[in-house]
Amino acid sequence: MRNKLKAWEKENRLIPVMIKKHCRGKHKTKGGQVCPECAELTEYALYRLKMCPFKENKKFCSFCVIHCYKPEMRDKIKAVMKYSGPRMIFTHPIFALSHVTQMIKYKKKRKREAKNLDR
Ligand SMILES: [Zn+2]
Repeated sequence: MRNKLKAWEKENRLIPVMIKKHCRGKHKTKGGQVCPECAELTEYALYRLKMCPFKENKKFCSFCVIHCYKPEMRDKIKAVMKYSGPRMIFTHPIFALSHVTQMIKYKKKRKREAKNLDR
């Protein structure tokens, strides 16, 4: 139970960091602030996370964002992940690495599940 919630807590901390990074890089917002658009996105993302029905079992939001975000926000968060994801390696190496490991594990698992369904 504790371990499962940890991934969720990580995501909860990671999202604002990634959005801020994206905002600084792309929107040129300075001084650790975010522009109103990114503030809205942060709020939306954290709200979705809080409401997530898979909270306890989930690994990272990035996997199910596609199904749970509304299209407009989905595009924005995808841009954020694309921009900030690779850059997290430098500022949050443990975060980024565990994210990548989880993603590989998750993809393998999905593949296995798909195979089982075929049979
Ligand atoms: Zn911004």
